[in-house]
Formats: sequence, structure tokens, C-alpha cells
Amino acid sequence: MKLVVQVKLLPTPEQAAALEATLHAVNTAADLVSAVAFDQQCFRNYDLREHTYDRIKAEYGLAAQAAQHVIKKVADAYRTFHANLRAGNVGAPGAKRRTRAESRPITFRPDAAQPYDDRCLSWLMQARTVSIWTTCGRLKNVAFTGSPEQLKTLAACRKGESDLVARDGGWYLYATCEVPDVPVTEPEGFLGVDLGIANIATTGDGTRHSGKGLNAVRHRNRELRRRLQAKRTKSARRLLKKRRRREARFAADTNHTIAKQIVTEAERTGQGIALEDLQGIRDRVRLRKPQRVTLHSWSFHQLGSFIAYKARRAGIALIHVDPAYTSQQCSACGHTERANRPDQETFLCTSCGFAEHADVNAARNIAARGVAGWAVSHAA
Ligand SMILES: [Zn+2]
Repeated sequence: MKLVVQVKLLPTPEQAAALEATLHAVNTAADLVSAVAFDQQCFRNYDLREHTYDRIKAEYGLAAQAAQHVIKKVADAYRTFHANLRAGNVGAPGAKRRTRAESRPITFRPDAAQPYDDRCLSWLMQARTVSIWTTCGRLKNVAFTGSPEQLKTLAACRKGESDLVARDGGWYLYATCEVPDVPVTEPEGFLGVDLGIANIATTGDGTRHSGKGLNAVRHRNRELRRRLQAKRTKSARRLLKKRRRREARFAADTNHTIAKQIVTEAERTGQGIALEDLQGIRDRVRLRKPQRVTLHSWSFHQLGSFIAYKARRAGIALIHVDPAYTSQQCSACGHTERANRPDQETFLCTSCGFAEHADVNAARNIAARGVAGWAVSHAA
């Protein structure tokens, strides 16, 4: 399977200046290529190369590989844009937004990411440095750092391109790695995972991963957003954008941590993982009005995909189950009734008297459905 390992570069001030100048140059060149593509309505990589390759090499001091990557980046951007047009994501034909988007070439931020291949970027894993092409010449000995796990994956499995990324004043390389598939171990039971708002994830063994920190950040940002949106100034917009990105990163970190704990627990106990099928989660959660705004269904999808990805790397069985009525069904006797759930936190079976935290009860139902689903799909 393919995965992306992120390492942080630790450039000296001179090296950082060279990296910055480079991103600036390649993205200015990309704007030029994009303008040519737009003027001539010519979007294929190969054709664009004929029109722009020599010119951007000469005018922006780009190395051959860099120039090719710039052209490919532009061609890819147009391919995505045209696919979005076809899918109706930019509005219906004739819509104002669509007309505006169609009436001018795609532009690139001065610090937009740039792909590097092995000819313009080499990795010295022992020394933990890279040597990287820039418009100011090749930089040698640019130090980088990452977690031990990341560095191990990088040393063993790095293959193909890496992206140079400038983010929040830092420099990063996103390196593509090709990790061998791990065969799935036959599970001994399933660990069910219930997703929610107060508790982002609850497992059948009673572990609750609280959403407190994340919800607090979201509330704070929502207040701030309200105040800033009223201002309508450029600096307010910039601050908003920064906050939004920080919130997204915090959510991603939280999801990574939760996913890791769940997968580690499944691995330790030899269980598979049963997740709710997230189709329709929006509708389900929409019922809980006061909390509606705190919900971002993409965040659940992200957690689901982190779990799926980590499970796959560990060879852990993963199954998605229909979550209908998992919150109203008794995990002890199977009796299903709305009255089983007197309040948000409590499950109390009106038939057999079984009592449990509502989310834990739901997680156990999900686990049971996982066991059943797995038996069906692996009957042969
Ligand atoms: Zn019961």
C-alpha cells in the first residue's frame, strides 16, 4: 500500500531563503504555464511541454526536472478542475461562480507545494539530511527530523516523488512510501467502535475517547468566527483561515491518536475492528439538535479512514456494519426500544434490566454485528 510520510526540514536561514526563492520561482512559472494553457486551450502535459518548457527553464532558472514537474503540476490542476466542472462541483453551466472560474487561468500560491523526484532530491538517511535542488543551486546537508516510526518507514519503503511543502513558517517533505501489504489475521472476535460527539469514539471494552478538547476548540472558533465575519476586513479573513486550518489540524491529530489507540488495542487482543458504516451519519446525528453544529461528518470519515489505514498496516480485520438502532438495542438480550435509552448517556433495558453507558452498549452491538458480518463474508 502507498502511504505518505511527513518529515520536517531544519534548514539554516540561508537554506530556508533558497527554498523560499525556489517555491516562488516554480509557482510563478506555473502561473505562466497556466496562462499559456488557458490562452491556447491546451491542457495536456505533453503539448504544454512543447509550448512552455524551454521558456520557463530560461526565464526562471529551473532545472530540467523542475520544469517538467511544473508543467505536470499545471496539467494535473486543469485535469482536476475539468473533472470538477463535469461533476458539477463548480456550479451549473451559466452559474456566476462557474462562469467566473472558467473565465480565467488557474493560479498558484507563491508557496504552493512542489513535487521532487530522485534526480532533484536525494535522501541521506544515516546523516538524516537531504540534498535538494533549488534555484540558488543544489543545497546539501539540509537536516530533517521525524518520529522513529516515520524514519524507519522512510528508510525501508520510500519510493517515488516527494512534495516540498511550506506550512506555518515551517518546511516539510511529504515522501511517498510503498509499504508491503500485511496479510489479515483471522480475528478472535471484534472490537466495536461507536462514534459520537460527546465521546468521539467508544469501544465495546468501555474505553471512551472524549471529544471534550476538540469540542472546546470548535466552540471557541465558532465564537471568533462570528466576530471576525462581522468585520469583513482582509486581516480578519486571514486570521479566520488560519484558525480554520489550525482547527482541522487539531482534529486530525486527535483522530490519529484515537485511531492508534483503537488499533493497538485490537492488535493486543487479537480482535478485528467493527466500525459503523458512515453512510447516513449526518441524518442520524441531525436529530440531536443542540449539538448539531459541533458535528463535522468529515471528521468521522477521517477517523474511520485513519483506523482503516492503521488496521490494514497491522493486518487487522476490519468490517463496516449497519449502525441502525445500535443505540436502542440491548447488547445483552437484543430487545430494541427507544425507551431503553432514557437519556444521552444511559442505556437501561426495559426488558432484561441490563444497564451500561449508552455508547458502550452501542459499541457492543456494533461488535456483534461485526462478528455476524465477518462470518457471512468468510463463510467459504
Ligand atoms: Zn436487555
